[in-house]
Amino acid sequence: MTPELKQRYDRQIRLPSITESGQQKFLDARVLIIGMGGLGSPVAMYLAAAGIGHLVLSDFDIVESSNLQRQIIHTEQTVGQLKVDSAKQFIASLSPNTEVTTIDHELSEDELAEQVNLADVIVDCTDNFPSRFELNRVCIKLKKPLVSGAAIRQEGQISTYDSRKENSPCYQCLYPDEGLESVTCSMEGVMAPVVGIIGTMQAQETLNVLLDRPALVGTLLLLDAQYLEWQRMQLPKNPKCPACSETQT
Ligand SMILES: [Zn+2]
Repeated sequence: MTPELKQRYDRQIRLPSITESGQQKFLDARVLIIGMGGLGSPVAMYLAAAGIGHLVLSDFDIVESSNLQRQIIHTEQTVGQLKVDSAKQFIASLSPNTEVTTIDHELSEDELAEQVNLADVIVDCTDNFPSRFELNRVCIKLKKPLVSGAAIRQEGQISTYDSRKENSPCYQCLYPDEGLESVTCSMEGVMAPVVGIIGTMQAQETLNVLLDRPALVGTLLLLDAQYLEWQRMQLPKNPKCPACSETQT
């Protein structure tokens, strides 16, 4: 590690649980972030700041003024641009050493599998069930850790699914029914800091996963932001899960 990098990441390297070897893991890591909205913004910002070497950002939406209330990686100046381009500009200004790859179209099944395969950790920052289910299936198939977050109204949730670990549940252990209708923030609304809290927790958990000590495998955290209350629930593996059970072919 160069003296410049040692200085830049000094406050992390000082931590006995990180040291230079942990920081080197961050610098060597490739993280795939699906969705560059309210959750993806803090995830990308904190992971870039923390020194993740390579971020792959996937989103095909354009920045709109109604996004700026909570999608803090975008600014008034980038309204009308692709979200991934807007995010890439911000990351370049914060952390020029972070390599950024942008994907600005809907990923085909093969492309998604390729990107998941290349990544060390995948962060689910999407806003709809079909994307979440697909991402979950691909991560199980390729045995990749998935840090999953969601936020709506004044509620949020976060968990980690890691099929490398024998007893880890998956996203469909939580939601077995694929027919669920997506409720979106554009329909129901969302309070600005809620996506920031959940996204920031996802960034922390991504670093935990890279250090091989995830905090939320088999645990679901639920946030009630109005009362600032967290609920910690055990999330067991569902033996009849349509996505991850042994009987699945
Ligand atoms: Zn499952």
